Amino acid sequence: MADCDICGVSRPTVCPVKVMVPHFAGAYPAGMWKGLCEACSKTTHDANSKKVEIGGGKCNLCKGKYSKLNKVMIKVPSFVKGSVDVENHICDSCLGSCAAMYKKKVADGILGGHGHGHEEKHCGAEEESHSEKKHQHH
Ligand SMILES: [Zn+2]
Ligand SMILES: [Zn+2]
Repeated sequence: MADCDICGVSRPTVCPVKVMVPHFAGAYPAGMWKGLCEACSKTTHDANSKKVEIGGGKCNLCKGKYSKLNKVMIKVPSFVKGSVDVENHICDSCLGSCAAMYKKKVADGILGGHGHGHEEKHCGAEEESHSEKKHQHH
């Protein structure tokens, strides 16, 4: 099981997305892998095409400080209400990476429900992402 890096939900697989993490730019100049559930992949993709800009602050995904962030309403599972909308603040860079990842998954027929006969495919089984993910946990 893996936890989504945005809403925290546990999924058998999450979609890997590479984001630039300013804090670890020295150790990981090419970015670090984060895992997003399907719902958050779609939410961030939609938010990227219809941006709601807010002021500066800390990005919820890469934890970097930016002068401009985007408001993204994330549905987080709740035992009390089923789900609650939680306001997340995500930078342009992360939002772009997430949107590109979602687009690719849809094009590959893994997400978005347009695929035929791709049921056995899982998000992000690529070799590369696995080896780098291990690295990240050291
Ligand atoms: Zn999520
Ligand atoms: Zn970010």
